[in-house]
Amino acid sequence: MPPLDLDIGLGTSGLDDPDECTDTVAAALAAGYRHVDTAQMYDNEAAVGEGLARVFADPNRDVDREDVVVATKVHPDNLAPDDVRETARESLDRLGLDRVDLLYVHWPIRTYDAAETLPVFDELREAGLTDHVGVSNFTPDLLREAREILDSPIAAHQVECHPRFQQPELRELAADFDHRLVGYSPLGRGEILDDPALVEIAERNDTAPAVVALAWSLARDVVPIPKATGDHVRENLQAREFELSASDLDAIDALEPGDRKIDPDDAAWNR
Ligand code: NAP
Repeated sequence: MPPLDLDIGLGTSGLDDPDECTDTVAAALAAGYRHVDTAQMYDNEAAVGEGLARVFADPNRDVDREDVVVATKVHPDNLAPDDVRETARESLDRLGLDRVDLLYVHWPIRTYDAAETLPVFDELREAGLTDHVGVSNFTPDLLREAREILDSPIAAHQVECHPRFQQPELRELAADFDHRLVGYSPLGRGEILDDPALVEIAERNDTAPAVVALAWSLARDVVPIPKATGDHVRENLQAREFELSASDLDAIDALEPGDRKIDPDDAAWNR
């Protein structure tokens, strides 16, 4: 299997209205996105699948299944071996696909047991249901443990990452372990976009703060997966062409870290 080629992706958490989700995925692919991120938890895999199918079937769009990285994640409640097997197949059914490119462990909590859970991800990869195995929200120690247990290489580690939460240790580990770091909430859930430093850089360069934040991720070898709707979908793609100067990159690197936006101790994760 060739290494996973990951470009900026469309995040879909919060695309709860099925029609809006389908339209947004289709618009993103039409605009040039080739990576779509969903999860069992988002309850929108079917709507995501409809958006993909609409574009694959469109004779005016030259987008094939092989052109797009489709990623989903197994819910923390479904990480016992039989549940991984069963629910991964259900995810594929909802997505309308016979394989995904990347199947993640969503969060190593609740039913996660490294020795029990991870061999099933190998099994699903061997059976062709996913091309690659990913993990999300792992600590350095949990990453090391997973690498020892898995036969498959870890293709991607997905964690919160943005200019106010830069994940230096996990970025370094990604380089050492040769996996991609995928940055979720790359816009800090929209809450970092009025940061004076980002606003100043954006104004000086006649672009949007979101583009500055995403360009920082790309420059730091982090694959951002912004969730967006409407005009923001196309705007965010401008980050691919926008190059930050070395001094602007340094200024963003030096920003004070803020609080993480997704709290692992949140009751919603630890019921
Ligand atoms: P995010 O992408 O940082 O921020 C999304 C917010 O930013 C939305 O309110 C969106 O509003 C706004 N936005 C997007 N583009 C904008 C632009 N150009 N200008 C102004 N506002 C803009 O937050 P996120 O949804 O938490 O993270 C992104 C994706 O990461 C998720 O969708 C999901 O796929 C993934 N994720 C994974 C995990 C995990 O545990 N693995 C956790 C959280 C998220 P509009 O909708 O109005 O555009």
